[in-house]
Amino acid sequence: MGASENIGSRTGVVGVLGHPIGHSLSPRMHNAALQAQGIDMVYLAFDVPPERLPEALLGLRALGFRGVNVTIPHKEAIVTLLDDVEAAAVRIGSVNTVVNDNGRLVGYNTDKSGFLSALRGLRPDGARDLTCFIAGAGGAARAVVAGLVEDGAREIYVYNRTPERAVSLCSQAVSWGSARCLAVSEHEVFGAAREADLIINATSVGLTPAVKESAIPVDILHSRQIVLDLVYGREPTALVREAKARGATAIDGKEMLVMQAASSYEFWTGRRAPVDVMRTSIDGER
Ligand code: NAP
Repeated sequence: MGASENIGSRTGVVGVLGHPIGHSLSPRMHNAALQAQGIDMVYLAFDVPPERLPEALLGLRALGFRGVNVTIPHKEAIVTLLDDVEAAAVRIGSVNTVVNDNGRLVGYNTDKSGFLSALRGLRPDGARDLTCFIAGAGGAARAVVAGLVEDGAREIYVYNRTPERAVSLCSQAVSWGSARCLAVSEHEVFGAAREADLIINATSVGLTPAVKESAIPVDILHSRQIVLDLVYGREPTALVREAKARGATAIDGKEMLVMQAASSYEFWTGRRAPVDVMRTSIDGER
């Protein structure tokens, strides 16, 4: 099921709303998983400009979609348009998954759980007791910091190009749990990042065409560190390449992408996602 020849009048619909949306790998991952499990549902991509998001949500309700992912630029704007939003997504300030619960649209953030699952693949204890350094203070960084706090990180240093956003994120994060969260200035980056057990890039630096660049100074990387770059591409990012060259354990954002998708899939289908199928479906993709 899931392949076009099997679509029928009972086929459920899920999808992703974004703008632009043409490069999304989500349809590939979800449709491969739906087919592998014989679930009568299809996943489609919809290009929805910001001003039409409210109408798109009315459409979801009217047409009885099972749910959607939302991506750039809708993740923040959608929070106030839903019937209910889980507490963690409210804290993070962004929703990437909507479940249509008999006409009630409920929002979740699976970037946080996707990040933690990817981290557990590298360290079974996750962030527990770790000193963490994170570059970025946008939506993805907020989800990562929420995950680190929830997972029992000891200290979290946040550096961002626009310092006020890091300060604001840390001032909120201290109330989310017991981790110390400190915004660091540019001249403190070297010291803080060198001391960290876990280094995370949650900026968009490292995306094509700046794939050779890193938002984190690579000279500080060493073999006792775990490095997680949220960015991914066909080629390894500069951060992942340099981290591996220095003996660190490092992965790019593809595993988080798969794990956040798996979590959304589980909300819509009630089935455990076939993560290997999802991973294989995007092998060799950007
Ligand atoms: P966002 O809200 O737009 O935030 C972008 C962040 O990148 C901000 O902190 C911004 O700093 C920083 N930044 C952008 N250009 C920069 C530059 N030239 N130098 C230094 N910092 C720069 O985006 P987001 O949703 O957080 O996403 C961030 C990245 O994570 C994207 O590449 C996205 O694809 C990736 N991501 C991956 C996954 C996954 O599953 N792997 C999930 C979510 C996001 P300012 O505040 O100074 O502008």
